[in-house]
Amino acid sequence: MEEVKKIYLETYGCQMNFSDSEIVASLMQDEGYEICEKSDEADVIFVNTCSIRDNAEQRVRRRLRELKSVKKKNPFVKIGVLGCMAERLKQQLLEEEETVDMIVGPDAYRDLPALLDKVEDGQKAINVILSTSETYADITPVRLDKSGITAFISIMRGCENFCAYCVVPFTRGKERSRDPQTIISEAKALFADGYREVTLLGQNVNSYSWEENGRKINFASLLERVAEVDPLLRLRFATSHPKDISDELLKTIGKHHNICNAIHLPVQSGSSNILKLMKRNYTREWYLDRIAAIKKYVPDCAVSTDVIAGFCSETKQDHQETISLMREVGFDYAFMFKYSERPDTLAQKKLEDDVPKDVKSARLQEIIDLQQQLSHESNKNDIGKTFEVLIEGSSKKSKEFLMGRNSQNKVVVFPKESYAKGDYVHVKITGCTTATLMGEADPLF
Ligand code: SF4
Repeated sequence: MEEVKKIYLETYGCQMNFSDSEIVASLMQDEGYEICEKSDEADVIFVNTCSIRDNAEQRVRRRLRELKSVKKKNPFVKIGVLGCMAERLKQQLLEEEETVDMIVGPDAYRDLPALLDKVEDGQKAINVILSTSETYADITPVRLDKSGITAFISIMRGCENFCAYCVVPFTRGKERSRDPQTIISEAKALFADGYREVTLLGQNVNSYSWEENGRKINFASLLERVAEVDPLLRLRFATSHPKDISDELLKTIGKHHNICNAIHLPVQSGSSNILKLMKRNYTREWYLDRIAAIKKYVPDCAVSTDVIAGFCSETKQDHQETISLMREVGFDYAFMFKYSERPDTLAQKKLEDDVPKDVKSARLQEIIDLQQQLSHESNKNDIGKTFEVLIEGSSKKSKEFLMGRNSQNKVVVFPKESYAKGDYVHVKITGCTTATLMGEADPLF
């Protein structure tokens, strides 16, 4: 009997990349491959990469060098680099990293079997052609997250915003939306399999757009349709762009109990001058107006954000405007980074990366310290409240406790009693840390 070939997948970067790895897993399973858990058991290793910051790429480079030892033990193993770094560096990566056998961009995964054949014949293989239509709509992803409760559904690909600092439009190509019927079918299938939460993914979900029988379907109407799959299926989405988060979308969120009250709205900077240089297409005032609209239509909505410290020409005053905006909004959570110049972006071509390293670090630290404080305050405000929590599994620290999330996407830990994964339970919050709420199930709620 022929031995089943094994594939090991390692994923870096954003949720979109994790979702893409599930598509790759599905395509490879169709080719007869089995997914394995260890790189040294594999016949094929795929590293799905991220290019968002220089240190994300350096991490992948280090990992590729480590994989040399796997190749030494098993010279037949084939190593492929997928994702944004493959798209950005193309042939150059094949030349610079001798362990790599194939380079495959995010729109070329259907070509993986043919590329592997080429590699098996002893050649190097590459496909980094970007598509204007590929959405992988017909492929049922293999769920790599073993929780069985939460899953991602990719609803669109690419981005055309060309923010000055971002490589995504170059690595993931033009924006294109996926047929809503295939999204709804995927959500129904997940619910039937026991999943209770889906996250609709796209680089900029608010610009989702599809035409069906002469009718336009925007993101708000798509969200509504998926929410109607079942009231017990929770919905989240990421990521939203502040320039097009509409009142219509916010009203839809407010109307449906199962659309979670948590919005990730990357602000990047609190200074309108910097936002203009970043080509974000909104001002500080616009952003604050959208926050006011969120509070109006979804009163208990949590808001998280992304912040970049030390973008080109950022002054002390600009930085203070970021600090004051963070205070004014009172973000529940934030991803915070120092500006990292990326090749070929508008900022790299037209602006000077002129904020000294130590100033960037000091500003970032100030931002992090403030966010810690804001997250803690937000959690302290929840003490005494009761939330509906979807249980995702055991708490990391003790099997006697369960862990789940409330609608606001906060982690809640509470005693296990007789509850199980996938249950919805009301939990009264009795304490907190910066990152976690602690409580007790409230069966009478
Ligand atoms: S919206 Fe801007 S930051 Fe986000 S992926 Fe598109 S270009 Fe990058």
